[in-house]
Amino acid sequence: MRKYNSQNLNQQAKKVSRNRPMKKVRCYTLGRRGKAKTPGGIGLCLDLFCFFFASRQKRKRRKRKRFVHYEGLPLHPRQELAPACKPATHNPLYINFAQIFFMAQFRNFRMVGYVVYGRGSFNQLHEILAPRRNGDAPMIFLVDHFFDNSALLNRIPLRGKDKIILADVTYEPKTTQVDQLAQDLKAEFGTVSGIIGIGGGSVMDLAKAVALMITNPGSSADYQGWDLVKQAGVYHVGIPTLSGTGAEVSRTTVLTGPTRKLGMNSDFTPFDQIVLDPELTANAPGNQRFYTGMDCYIHCIESLEGTYLNEFSKSYGEKALQLCREVFIQKDSWDAECDDKLMMASYAGGMSIAYSQVGVAHAVSYGLAYLLGTKHGIGNCIVMNHLEEYYPAGVAEFKNMVQKHNIYIPQGICQGLGEDQFDIMMNVALSLKPLWENALGTDWEKIMTRERLRELYGRL
Ligand code: NAD
Ligand code: ZN
Repeated sequence: MRKYNSQNLNQQAKKVSRNRPMKKVRCYTLGRRGKAKTPGGIGLCLDLFCFFFASRQKRKRRKRKRFVHYEGLPLHPRQELAPACKPATHNPLYINFAQIFFMAQFRNFRMVGYVVYGRGSFNQLHEILAPRRNGDAPMIFLVDHFFDNSALLNRIPLRGKDKIILADVTYEPKTTQVDQLAQDLKAEFGTVSGIIGIGGGSVMDLAKAVALMITNPGSSADYQGWDLVKQAGVYHVGIPTLSGTGAEVSRTTVLTGPTRKLGMNSDFTPFDQIVLDPELTANAPGNQRFYTGMDCYIHCIESLEGTYLNEFSKSYGEKALQLCREVFIQKDSWDAECDDKLMMASYAGGMSIAYSQVGVAHAVSYGLAYLLGTKHGIGNCIVMNHLEEYYPAGVAEFKNMVQKHNIYIPQGICQGLGEDQFDIMMNVALSLKPLWENALGTDWEKIMTRERLRELYGRL
């Protein structure tokens, strides 16, 4: 007689525990003929399923003959009587149902389609874009206004109706700016072959968002959140000119909207292609390079110290952290090798948070950005400076780097704000639940009370 083997169910249950094991996996329900069914939580789903869909007789049978076996305890004698005790995987209905349930626990995310890395890889842009041109629909190059009148503009491979648009990134991208750009392009060209963003994190986000809003109706503000975008955007390419944000690999595009600063997080958001050419980041001003580079460092700390951490995010996070340390701690002066390394740190840091999340510094800094317009990199630095309680080792190392590079971190930016303004920042910050849960665990609301957050904002 075959005995019920719980191993496959246990393995499945272990897989479910992306970060934490599920508690009820040891509970198995045995049916009339001793058939192994599914773990406790799934059993409940099946009960509901049977209640609604199975025949009355089957429902009765299931009710009458059900009992529970806990792994590790002696088998119930009724199992000995069972003529054929098949593993649960042999029952297509149950296992499919279980699979669907389990699958939802894992994040199955889309990543960037193509990546080219190397000094001078920008020169391959023409051949990269050629197969993606649809008839005479143009390629639109959204270029950071920093490059106005620069030699880089002459290197852009313009063909036919292609157009360069200089993007003003004095302020971080807004939903209104995205909507306007998308509307103008649709009015001028009907459709476009692609959007190519060339610039820092702000332009990366603008390019992703405009590509999505060419094909999706309404305003980009309607899509701020998780998986609200329903249609693929047009082909979009990211070419970063600053390293650190990881925006080149992320599945979000952070926008300031009418009520919040939040990304359009979706499987359609990641770039179809990125061109990582460290030459483009040379000569970025030291302060800006530091602020954006620290964004990457903070991604690593928040990811590696977070409760969402798994081997995927850890592998990338550790590599990115090592590269950040090499360029910001071990090197005494900035050189081309630093640009090469920081570009890869940015990429790996972005991959790390793709499967985990950011944490306290980002949540609090989003509030600053929303109310005061504080830019992302410097905002994170301002907050990180005060987070010893949450990331003691990371904050100590951060302060060393600030000192070594003689960087100015603004202080007292919240002085003079009214309580209603603190409320606005706190509302923005506290709405970012996944960030807090990653940082402080499922009980985060008990830890990060409004009083505590108010006190933290008051110190910035
Ligand atoms: P940025 O893109 O805002 O640019 C900062 C400044 O540097 C700008 O004045 C810009 O003109 C200039 N600049 C760009 N490239 C330069 C170069 N090579 N040399 C000199 N100056 C240059 O800065 P950032 O830190 O790269 O990006 C911040 C933005 O990225 C924020 O809007 C933030 O919300 C976003 N972000 C997005 C993600 C994501 O996953 N989508 C992640 C982190 C940050
Ligand atoms: Zn960031």
